[in-house]
Amino acid sequence: MPNSRALLKRFAMLEHLIVLWLFSRIIRQIRRQGLAAFFRAFLNMALKSAKSVPGVSGAVQQEVNKEVEKIEKNMLGDGDPNALVSIPQKGMATGDILKLAKDMKDKEEGFYVSGKKWAGIYHAVTDKQDLLTKFQIDMWGMYASTNALYPGVFPSVRKFEAEIVSMCIDLLHGRSLGGVSGQDAVGLLTSGGTESILIAIHAYREQANERGVTDPEIICCVTVHPALDKAAHYYGVRLVKILADQKTQQMDVAAARSAISANTVAIYASAPTFPHGVVDPIEELSALALEKGLGLHVDNCLGGFYLSFLQRQGLFKRKFDFELPGVTTVSIDVHKYGFASKGVSVVAFRNPELRRLSYVPVMDGLTLYITPTIQGARGGAVMAQAWGTILHYGMDGYTKAIRHLYDIEQGFKKAVEETPGVRPLCNADLSVLPIASDEEGIDIYVVASLLEKRGWNMFTARDPPCMSVCFGERHGDLMQSWVEDLRDCLAEIRRNPGKKPEGDAAVYGAAKALPPDILGDVMRGYVDIKMKVKKKVI
Ligand SMILES: *Cc1c(COP(=O)(O)O)cnc(C)c1O
Repeated sequence: MPNSRALLKRFAMLEHLIVLWLFSRIIRQIRRQGLAAFFRAFLNMALKSAKSVPGVSGAVQQEVNKEVEKIEKNMLGDGDPNALVSIPQKGMATGDILKLAKDMKDKEEGFYVSGKKWAGIYHAVTDKQDLLTKFQIDMWGMYASTNALYPGVFPSVRKFEAEIVSMCIDLLHGRSLGGVSGQDAVGLLTSGGTESILIAIHAYREQANERGVTDPEIICCVTVHPALDKAAHYYGVRLVKILADQKTQQMDVAAARSAISANTVAIYASAPTFPHGVVDPIEELSALALEKGLGLHVDNCLGGFYLSFLQRQGLFKRKFDFELPGVTTVSIDVHKYGFASKGVSVVAFRNPELRRLSYVPVMDGLTLYITPTIQGARGGAVMAQAWGTILHYGMDGYTKAIRHLYDIEQGFKKAVEETPGVRPLCNADLSVLPIASDEEGIDIYVVASLLEKRGWNMFTARDPPCMSVCFGERHGDLMQSWVEDLRDCLAEIRRNPGKKPEGDAAVYGAAKALPPDILGDVMRGYVDIKMKVKKKVI
């Protein structure tokens, strides 16, 4: 019989080891995510346990419902007297339907035309005599009844698709890679940035599996677009999120290096990031990826076209695309600064083998089936309008348009620098101007909510708190009135100290303070409401 004291000693040893292990896990977690994220996760864990206590779960649910009701009131009001729940029995005359739609659209027109309500439309949609929109409508119309699934029937659609991809690859310095071999990068046409990112992450997951990595990890910065979180969720990839440099808001290369593990398959960088408009240090990350034999995805969704044309005019000095040998995939949106109507993006691969890993040939069905992307049947109309838009601009047209945008941005930046009480949060490279405040008593979220009251919609972000403007061509006419309103808001806050944020800015502010579990339920509620047909009873 072992002597009991020795046994106790052994247990004590084990306990020490467990504590040490737990402690090292916690430190690792904090180093990876930062202290704030760690405590949020901790709070969430505590909440989860609390929810199993009788009575608490109901109280939590009540809080969630209250928030969701607020969102519903805001989006749907008392409902729509003309809401349609089922297909009407009798078909309507097309003229009547057009009139119905026009009445609804006209009410929204005010937002477009004033330009104050930014909605991710990057080209100037003046609507009334806008030639680009008219031309896009013509291209859409001509190809309204086509299907890219049938290249034999619609060879022109196949041509549009392949050529848009090729033109984007050329823009990204993806031609004649590897010098002598002269091999070109390849790509796929997708429905948007999110699908482009999904496909790239799927390819990396497959690559990891080929290498025997069953628990693949991708290293990214907290500033990445949420599309990456979706991709990681769908494909079972773990994101290792590192903090941004607090001064530059760029991905921290040293932190990226120390986050690399045996499970790492790729690094993910942004050009630029969507909260701050900052291009990550992609030259250094490219060197790191090459050194470690990892993939490197550049999310150029927002910067696509814009950054390439800035670089070509010497207004952006760093390299960020296939010019860098470590860059293995790039996503680039044609429907942002390529000025096409929504529904078009490209994902490009340095190596054709990597692209092939993203395909899913289905051979054991009753028929053989393969499509290039996540979608099955796709209309050719969206491709036709994008192809037409690129041809309409040409290199010269984009050069001019991008230069114009850049000047608009510089104007806003200068105005913010000259406004006491606010400052640019960091040195943004393009697309976005993040604004912070150091003045005692000025809460940037209150500034955002007062601007909202004056008809502007502003983005806000946290850690550090800022509000951002994301630029489109419309901003050219709006600078003066925006700056006047900004200064007006600042004066209002100084006159009324202690003001709290209201409206959307307040909702965001409050939401971000909620534990992730509750917040997740409220966000799910938002989608439920977005999909709701609410008939107004009269
Ligand atoms: C817009 C954007 C995406 C996602 O693109 P969608 O076209 O909205 O799907 C991804 N990354 C960045 C940086 C973006 O700005």
